[in-house]
Amino acid sequence: MKAVQVTGPHNLNIVEKDKPVITAKEEVLIKVKMVGICGSDIHIYHGTNPLATLPRVIGHEVTGEVEAIGEGVEGLSVGDKVVIEPIESCGHCYACRTGRGNVCSNLEVYGVHRDGGMQEYMVMPQKLVHKVNGDLDWKESVLIEPFTIGAQANWRGDVQNGDTVFIMGAGPIGLCCLKVAKSKGATVIISDLNESRLEFAKEWGADYTIHASRSNVTEELMEITKQEGANVVIDAVCLPQTFEQAIEVASVAGRVVVLGFDERPSQIKQLPITKKEVTITGSRLQTNQFPGVIGMFNEQSFDTTGMVTQIFQLEQIHEAIQLIETSPQEVMKVVISFEK
Ligand SMILES: [Zn+2]
Ligand SMILES: [Zn+2]
Repeated sequence: MKAVQVTGPHNLNIVEKDKPVITAKEEVLIKVKMVGICGSDIHIYHGTNPLATLPRVIGHEVTGEVEAIGEGVEGLSVGDKVVIEPIESCGHCYACRTGRGNVCSNLEVYGVHRDGGMQEYMVMPQKLVHKVNGDLDWKESVLIEPFTIGAQANWRGDVQNGDTVFIMGAGPIGLCCLKVAKSKGATVIISDLNESRLEFAKEWGADYTIHASRSNVTEELMEITKQEGANVVIDAVCLPQTFEQAIEVASVAGRVVVLGFDERPSQIKQLPITKKEVTITGSRLQTNQFPGVIGMFNEQSFDTTGMVTQIFQLEQIHEAIQLIETSPQEVMKVVISFEK
């Protein structure tokens, strides 16, 4: 079978691998149908993901069909449409003991520390395989994993019905955060530098959009919120300055959700944090968000049209990456299809 493997910086190839087989009774063999390309896959390709070990089959946004099940597997049948939960935790460390396996000290992520989904078949433990509504299109179910990231950010920010949520950045993660926040009954303000992304965010339910270079973001946000500020700020731009701004525009008793990997320091004053009693919280991957997100997707009314902007065949992986890198304004989510 074919797999997309990174062996070193800028060295990504389609390789031939043995088709995996079920070796334990709780395992599931999945025929992969579609895999989304994420920023972190691109970082592995460039050699700028310090966590990744090589050689590695990339891809963690995976949907497919059950091809075979081990004798101990319950609740899944051959032919079921599924998504994979791409993280494995140890079960013993403090994070695991407190139900936060996503920040396990011994965390292993499929597509980063273990081979991921950009291959024709995968064998996964049943606990990491989730069944979805058979009526979903592959280009819908492939978005479930990125939506769990949005759901996690909303959970970490404790987004409540009636809250005003400010999302910085209208890329795929910002848009997933937006849809989840709207489903919780929040008013959502979203900012970006790209006009077409802001227009798209409006179609996806944003109540207000702010063009981050054409206007003074802080002033505009304060005006929209009648000087209250945002109850929850989700920073999906992740620059040192956006973190600083997030604290500034958070309301009293507000929450700031950090998703970035930038190692450069931000200049954060203590006073606004203490005075407003702002909670600053990190959000990484997800914990137990798959069932809720799958529930949203399984509703006929949940519409993700427009998020998948290009579908490439496995053989076109280089073209797909090139498009993402050279024409970022034309792409939202690019996916690789394993269907001929
Ligand atoms: Zn991702
Ligand atoms: Zn652990």
